[in-house]
Amino acid sequence: MELLQRVIKEQGIVIDNEVLKVDGFLNHRIDPKLMYKIGEEFAQRFKGLNITKILTLESSGIAPAVFTGFTLGVPVVFAKKNISRNINSETYSSCVHSFTKNKKYIIRVSKEYIDKADNLLIIDDFLANGQAVKGMIELATMAGANVVGIGIVIEKGFQNGGTLLREMGIRVESLAIIEEMSKEKISFRKEEEKKR
Ligand code: 5GP
Repeated sequence: MELLQRVIKEQGIVIDNEVLKVDGFLNHRIDPKLMYKIGEEFAQRFKGLNITKILTLESSGIAPAVFTGFTLGVPVVFAKKNISRNINSETYSSCVHSFTKNKKYIIRVSKEYIDKADNLLIIDDFLANGQAVKGMIELATMAGANVVGIGIVIEKGFQNGGTLLREMGIRVESLAIIEEMSKEKISFRKEEEKKR
């Protein structure tokens, strides 16, 4: 998605050659017009698959997931990272290792919001080593739901999450795949090489 690549080049800040900071449009301040276009792009790529719900993870997956859900006309469920008194005690849970925080945390989703009748599209902001998405796939599996695909806003192609998920036979659509990045330069995988 050319527009997204341009915004990443203009606003992205590379930290230690491994972490891309995109607080200007996705992780802190959100650009609604860009999110709307991201939602349209995911909806286009996953159309005709009888998706019943989107599953994402709080907090940074919510914006792209909501715009995708809006375009597809389906509800969005986000897995929670913290226990709170207002989450139903009947939950599916999975343990995830956080790439950015380098610690483990539990993600949970209430049993009443996903079930075996669901065809889920999983959406997240970043794909690094694939642990967050794997955790969401586990929640879906526990609920007996079907995962029709994974939509990622920014995949870091030099980390192994994309390979891991594609080797599991799951369809992964990433709107921008970063091939290499440094403080000086961010380069993207070309469209024709994306399916590898
Ligand atoms: P994974 O579980 O695939 O290793 O990492 C994905 C999760 O970690 C995403 O949900 C995202 O929040 C966070 N993440 C991983 N890499 C980056 C990055 O380079 N920049 C930002 N902002 N978040 C990242």
